[in-house]
Amino acid sequence: MADAMMSYAIAVDLGGTQVRAARVRADGEVSNRVALRTDTYAGPKVIMQQIADAAMEAARGLDKSEIKGFGISSPGPLNTETGVAIALPSIPGFENFPIVAALEEKLQQKVYLENDGISAAIGEWRFGAGQGLHSMVYVTVSTGIGGGVVVNNTVLRGHLGMAGHVGHLTIDSKGIRCNCGNTGCWERYAAGPFFAARAREQAKGTSSTLSAFGEKLQPADIFAEAKAGDKLAIAQVEEEARLLGVGLTSLLHLFSPQMIVIGGGLSNAFDQLRPGIRAYVEDNAFPSCRDVPIVTAKLGGNSGLIGAAAMVFDATI
Ligand SMILES: [Zn+2]
Repeated sequence: MADAMMSYAIAVDLGGTQVRAARVRADGEVSNRVALRTDTYAGPKVIMQQIADAAMEAARGLDKSEIKGFGISSPGPLNTETGVAIALPSIPGFENFPIVAALEEKLQQKVYLENDGISAAIGEWRFGAGQGLHSMVYVTVSTGIGGGVVVNNTVLRGHLGMAGHVGHLTIDSKGIRCNCGNTGCWERYAAGPFFAARAREQAKGTSSTLSAFGEKLQPADIFAEAKAGDKLAIAQVEEEARLLGVGLTSLLHLFSPQMIVIGGGLSNAFDQLRPGIRAYVEDNAFPSCRDVPIVTAKLGGNSGLIGAAAMVFDATI
C-alpha cells in the first residue's frame, strides 16, 4: 500500500562499458537495478535507445504518476546548462549531441543530466560519506580521475557546468601530454592505467614479482604483490600514494573541504594508499588542512546513480 504512494526517480549511469539504471526512492534506497553492455561505438542514436531501454526496465511496473523524473549521469565534458554533450572521449560520436532533448522525447518526462563526477559527489554528499557536511570534495580514481565539489552547501558547476574536472589539475607543466590537450595533468600520472604502466616499466628485467605479469600488469596486481612483500610493488604503491597526495593537497587548498571522499577502482585498495597520502598531506598542506579526513566513498558503484536521482527529487541541487 505504502509502496503505491511512493514516488521514484529513475536514474541512469552511462559509462564507457556499462549502461546502468535503477529506481531510487527519495531516501536514497536503490532497487530494480539493470545493467547493459554499452554499445560503445554504435553512435548516439543507439546509445540513447540503450539508456531509454535501461530506464524503462528499471521503471517496469510503476505507474507514470509514481515516476518523478529521470536523472542521467554521463561522462563529460557536457554543457549541463543546455543538456548537450560537447564530446565524450570514452564514447565516440557525441560531438555537440543534445542528450536531454533526445531523452525527453523518448521518455516523455523531465530529464536531468549531470556529469558523472558531479553526480557521484552529489550522491556521496546527500546519502553517503559526506552526509550533513557543508563542504566536501569527491574524487574518483580509476581509468581517469574525476570529481565534484560542494562548497557551503552549493554544488560547484561554474561556466557551462564544467567545474570540478579535478583530474586535469596540472601537476607538471613540463610533463606528459594528457588526452585533454593540456600538459602534465594529475590524471596522466595518478590514474590507474598510468600507475600500472609505471610499475610495468620499472619491473622490466628485475627480480620483482611484478615482472612476471608483463603487459598484463594491473593496479590490483601491484596492490596484491605489495601486500605479499615485493619491494618494488611496495615502492610503486608509495609513489602512487605520493602522486595522489599531490593533487589532494591542492584540492584542500582550493576548496577547504571538511572531508575528501575517494571513489573509483583504486579506492578498493585505499588501506594501502592511505599512509602515503596522509604523509604527503601532513608534510605539504596548510596546517589548517592537514587533519581533514580523507575517506572512501560509502555508496560504492552507486554514488552516480544515487546522485542523479537526488537531482530529480531536489531540482535546486
Ligand atoms: Zn588533462
